[in-house]
Amino acid sequence: MKRETIEEVALSLIKEAAIYLPKDVKLALKKAHKRESNATAKIQLKTILANIELAEKQQTPLCQDTGTVTFYAKAGSEARNIDSLEAAIISATRKATMEVPLRPNAVDPFTQVNSGDNTGRFTPHLHLEIVKGDSLELTVLLKGAGSENVSALGMLNPGEGVKGLKKFVIDSVIKAGAQPCPPTILGVAVGGGADVAMELAKKALLGPLGRSNSEPRLAKLERELLDAVNMTGIGPMGLGGDTTVLGVRVDYAHRHTASFPVAVAFSCWAERKASAQIRGDGSVKYLTKRVAK
Ligand code: SF4
Repeated sequence: MKRETIEEVALSLIKEAAIYLPKDVKLALKKAHKRESNATAKIQLKTILANIELAEKQQTPLCQDTGTVTFYAKAGSEARNIDSLEAAIISATRKATMEVPLRPNAVDPFTQVNSGDNTGRFTPHLHLEIVKGDSLELTVLLKGAGSENVSALGMLNPGEGVKGLKKFVIDSVIKAGAQPCPPTILGVAVGGGADVAMELAKKALLGPLGRSNSEPRLAKLERELLDAVNMTGIGPMGLGGDTTVLGVRVDYAHRHTASFPVAVAFSCWAERKASAQIRGDGSVKYLTKRVAK
């Protein structure tokens, strides 16, 4: 595959994610609007849905905070030109900043100087996984500061177990309140070290909403957490209601016997993600589905 193809696909994915909410998230918002019993919450959800339609119609970003750009890549061990992947996504991010446009969000943490094009040290961030074959699967996640700022990591005592995990997740949602623009989507990860838990929690946000986890024990935990966090009554935009969270995805890693890390990653309602596969012959398949009105 050519470097130009990787760059074109990366640029298309950023555009897609910034403007169109994927099918699973849009459907979850529509369902929430239908079943919401609180009048104020219903209005908030209706406004969010109107915002989504407007962004599509006018081809403008879903939110003024177009977030930071993170790519997740699954590269086939036989795929060609993978060494150009990083340069391709940096170039795509620069172009997207001009063309979408994206808000320039990348600043030097010490000097506050804005790079002006959403690039910088470790930005856009790339997670790379090597798999079999000659294809490259690319996923982009655009994540705003409101949801990123309430990310939570707890190094629990192993004796606290699942009960402690649930308490930590519920407390994190209560503490976050309206800040991540609810209704949110939660990625929860348990185990690993602190870094592994946080990485898995964020990656869990990419999983499809409305589909049960393939592991029954995780599916059960996801349902229990969803019911529990929605009982907080925080509601859309923190104004009260039944819908605080649209979905919970749980992942895990084996942990040190004496550690029990629990990580919670939040996505606001604007969960901006898009994926595509570039095959070895250069053909491209876009994987993220949209939904018409
Ligand atoms: S949390 Fe999400 S919806 Fe709210 S301002 Fe940030 S990017 Fe926009």
